[in-house]
Amino acid sequence: MRTAFKHHSRIYPSQIRLYDTCPRLYELEKVLRIPTVKNRKAIFGEIVHAHIADYFRYFPQEEVEQETIKKLTQEMITCNSLMFEEEERKNYQEILTNFQNFEIVRLGKFGEENYLPLFIEKELEAEIGIEGETVEVRAILDIGFPNGLVIDWKTGERKRYSRIQSGIIQYILKKNKFNSKDVLFVFLQSKTMNKGKEEDEEYAIEKLYEFVEGVKKRIFPKQESEICEICFFKGYCNSQEEPKKETEVSWTSVT
Ligand code: SF4
Repeated sequence: MRTAFKHHSRIYPSQIRLYDTCPRLYELEKVLRIPTVKNRKAIFGEIVHAHIADYFRYFPQEEVEQETIKKLTQEMITCNSLMFEEEERKNYQEILTNFQNFEIVRLGKFGEENYLPLFIEKELEAEIGIEGETVEVRAILDIGFPNGLVIDWKTGERKRYSRIQSGIIQYILKKNKFNSKDVLFVFLQSKTMNKGKEEDEEYAIEKLYEFVEGVKKRIFPKQESEICEICFFKGYCNSQEEPKKETEVSWTSVT
């Protein structure tokens, strides 16, 4: 039998994270759908991700060597820098240079046979049963390699990796029988990285349960934190009437 969850819920880690950060913020953005303006940092991140994906798409198979990595990244920097204003341009050049250095290290460590990707920007899904319902969790994986390494590129300033994202990715990889050795979160601005931990999966599934229950029952309390300072909805947050809690609503109304 088709259930409301099964056909209307495609849950991405970003939704669970948003709810976990502040349920009220989730409600304003995803339930009430108050229009937002995509901020420039998010757009910049998308552009860098697209350029890195293209780098791998056009990497010549017969030239897996350090010199090619350098040549291609330098060409990207030269060609693409002009599209940014001064401050972003510096940021872009720094990120691409760090990316180049990371790739040189990766080639040295894992060898030519593991250099070119198995997949780029692949969306994977997996089902999970929650209280008799089936929900579908999804994630877009930036890149995966033959040795089982999966990398998620981070282009922003924040250095913390998300246990929710890590856990959901690990769950999905396992369900798709992808023999993943490591999920790495590589922070290209700060030149640091985090390896996803096994226990992240349990943590993320717990958060998924909280998310599903919270959204179904419309539990959207405010959760004040340092995020409030930069929250787009600061103005709306207090002015809207608090929705009734614990009222069962159709899942279809919040897709
Ligand atoms: S201002 Fe703070 S409490 Fe209000 S929605 Fe934004 S993050 Fe949540």
